[in-house]
Amino acid sequence: VQVSQNEKDLRAKDEQYVWHGMKPYSPDATMVATKAKGAWITDEQGNRYLDAMAGLWCVNTGYGRDELALAAYEQLKELAYFPLTQSHVPAIKLAEKLNEMLGDDYVIFFSNSGSEANETAFKIVRQYHQQKGEHSRYKFISRYRGYHGNSMGALAATGQAQRKYKYEPLAPGFIHVAPPDSYRGQDDYDAPKEKLQSVKDIDNVMTWELSETIAAVIMEPIITGGGILLPPQNYMKGVKETCEKHGALLIADEVICGFGRTGEAFGFMNYDVKPDIITMAKGITSAYLPLSATAVKKEIYEAFKDSDQYEYFRHVNTFGGSPAACALALKNLEIMERENLFGRSKQLGAYVLSELTPLIDSHPYVGDVRGKGLLIGIELVADKQTKEPLDVNLVNEVIAKCKSKGVIIGKNGATVAGYNNVLTLSPPLNIEESDIELLLATITYALDSIK
Ligand code: PMP
Repeated sequence: VQVSQNEKDLRAKDEQYVWHGMKPYSPDATMVATKAKGAWITDEQGNRYLDAMAGLWCVNTGYGRDELALAAYEQLKELAYFPLTQSHVPAIKLAEKLNEMLGDDYVIFFSNSGSEANETAFKIVRQYHQQKGEHSRYKFISRYRGYHGNSMGALAATGQAQRKYKYEPLAPGFIHVAPPDSYRGQDDYDAPKEKLQSVKDIDNVMTWELSETIAAVIMEPIITGGGILLPPQNYMKGVKETCEKHGALLIADEVICGFGRTGEAFGFMNYDVKPDIITMAKGITSAYLPLSATAVKKEIYEAFKDSDQYEYFRHVNTFGGSPAACALALKNLEIMERENLFGRSKQLGAYVLSELTPLIDSHPYVGDVRGKGLLIGIELVADKQTKEPLDVNLVNEVIAKCKSKGVIIGKNGATVAGYNNVLTLSPPLNIEESDIELLLATITYALDSIK
């Protein structure tokens, strides 16, 4: 949609007509974006911004790719819609491709959003246990500070009370445990998996709740919106083994971590483990069109496959896996491979970390710098001894300073309910090297300004 000269009142109209999901992401006014290319967004007044958050951690291959627009256009002309209660070619090809990326063994259920992909996973898990005659298994374990979506089940799995308490009661049967946290947590990160406190916590909860009531654990391989929390290297493997011991399944929520964000195709691939179910969205189409997927181990699908229609999976999704979204996703994955964007994420991420880490010693408020690939957090504290989170006004000031220099960064954390003191960086994976330098210089300048 083009902006004409006489449309200077777009922000006023926005206030009048559009209900946004949160207060504006950055502290000053809502930005009205009109176009974008690569890692750069233009607003309605012609200002340009380096988008170091890739939207909501999703535009992995960058903005303005004609190839992606064309893939959707061609597919819309050929076949605009057909439900996936039956099938079509782009869905078949995309499912085959995702299975290949996951290392074989999975079937794919398509939907439209990360929340829906998780809801789908929860329903599959509960029904799977029932198909096997294990009717008492209904409980899900997830982690505090994790985020899994905005719907009544996915929000129940979410471990951020500030997002939940006004909408309760949510779906019952969700239990939370503390995640590992290298900066504030109890784990010895070098301990073998059997000795990790946060693995033992899950084992204990499963025992105390009764093993035969536990359906699955859901976790982001790296907690993202909750403040970029990297687990010990052996943690996810320890959780998987604990699940197996208690007869439960492991769901990896790869909605942010997937598609190269952490420097691997999927986040779990950093941790030598194979989850039973993998949910994905965002980066699958680089957010050009809505699409999500729930990848399920074949042996789980086998429990449904030959059932009659009443025992089968009664879960229909009108738009999920639309032909154009699947065709676009296939092209998007082809670009990731062609441009080696997973490798690029790993390499640029390591560079950004090495450049920012010295701030821990040199800056009075930088308590920690951590990340994997182009998924990076800078935790700001008022006092390095007590680790008290930095005053939110100062955190906001850093973000506003960056924006005034034309750079958009994120703010996440939930260290204390509602307290976001972790600056987050998650740019498109094809961000130019010169833009990485601009990002580093701008963050350093913004942090210096609050010293
Ligand atoms: N899981 C994770 C880890 C997410 O970050 C998000 C969205 N930020 C979701 C699930 C939900 O995805 P959506 O907003 O597409 O429903």
